[in-house]
Amino acid sequence: MNSKEFARRRRQLMHMIGHGGIAILPAAPVRTRSRDIEYRFRQDSDFYYLSGFAEPDAVAVLIPGRDNGEYLLFCRERDANKELWDGSRAGPGGAISTFGADDAFPIDDIDDILPGIMESCKRVYYTMGVYPEFDSRIADWVNSLRARESSGVHTPQEFVALDHLLHDMRLYKSRAEISALRKSAKVAVNAHTQAMQMVRPGLYEYEVEAEFVREFRRNDAWVSYNPIVGAGANTCTLHYIENNACLEDGDLLLIDAGCELDYYASDITRTIPVSGRFSPEQRVVYDIVLEAQLAAIDKTVKDNHWNEPHDAAVKVITRGLKKIGLLDGTLSRLIRDGAYKEFFMHRTGHWLGMDVHDVGDYKVGDGWRLFETGMVTTVEPGIYIPASRKVPARWRNIGIRIEDDVAVTNSGPDVLSKGLVKDPDEVESLMQR
Ligand code: CA
Repeated sequence: MNSKEFARRRRQLMHMIGHGGIAILPAAPVRTRSRDIEYRFRQDSDFYYLSGFAEPDAVAVLIPGRDNGEYLLFCRERDANKELWDGSRAGPGGAISTFGADDAFPIDDIDDILPGIMESCKRVYYTMGVYPEFDSRIADWVNSLRARESSGVHTPQEFVALDHLLHDMRLYKSRAEISALRKSAKVAVNAHTQAMQMVRPGLYEYEVEAEFVREFRRNDAWVSYNPIVGAGANTCTLHYIENNACLEDGDLLLIDAGCELDYYASDITRTIPVSGRFSPEQRVVYDIVLEAQLAAIDKTVKDNHWNEPHDAAVKVITRGLKKIGLLDGTLSRLIRDGAYKEFFMHRTGHWLGMDVHDVGDYKVGDGWRLFETGMVTTVEPGIYIPASRKVPARWRNIGIRIEDDVAVTNSGPDVLSKGLVKDPDEVESLMQR
């Protein structure tokens, strides 16, 4: 993402905040994995969205209309010895020259500098509750001003939820963001394609998972969530991540895996037959899920409301389950009573962006949000028939989900992950190769 894009976002947010406001955003904290080993650092999405700055121990501050600089960045100072161990730092100088800050300061000086800047502001825009330690620092700064109110020090009077503004901005993806999401999807599509070609009985789920990690890292990407690679009965466990069972002949394999490339996520699911050929029952259920997914994608268009793809998927799935005898009753009644939930127990999608389950409200007021150009969602209906369901044995342990990433455009749904086969005949022929 180029620096102009970050500058544009800051301008847009500052325009919404207006004079008298100050927005404060902390970087993500470094998190411990075990004992003294840390997780690989991943910047906070809101912070990165506005700054493009990937270092920990930083705070971004926006003060629209401030004469001495509207965009301030507090960050780690340069330190030759520490950089020798942990890699290079931008330092306040780099924050200005490379990251477009109007002014920058060492993070260790923030207690001395920031309260004085807050003093001149009426409204503080901040997202509470994400980083409790930083919440209490904000409270400390405000209290330090309040303590001096009797000597004429001004205290901001209003606290506003920053996420309310920022997450609405993030919901509408720019052209550059759609392109970043498309690249991320493409890497995941290639990984899925290669995995499909390697799958055969006798492999272990983790060997298939390894194929994804290899392809992601080869492209400078990381997994955007723990991949789900589940065969047989595991296809029916929605959040299965053990990924340690053997692939048996005759089973299905459900793979839900996506990557994060340059801070943008993909999220793709395919379900394939371990043997390379669907059994008749697997094929029948697969056809229902695919029809549901295509119907849902067709509904992912401008001015439709958020739930219309789900409604379309529910209709196709309920009708299909009734047709194969797993549900009994009239279609309208089965839908009204939610009978399908025994086999389709999740929603049909979620927003996708810098986060896999991206920000943005699904409802506005009492109603579902309408789709608008630039919104990106997953479309991922499924049918799951665990062995515990009272159904004829031949249907058991069939779990199928098909998921693509879809952008809403002026000319209809744009499937960002469209390079990946999902037609069952095409899946079979790809697996024969
Ligand atoms: Ca998903």
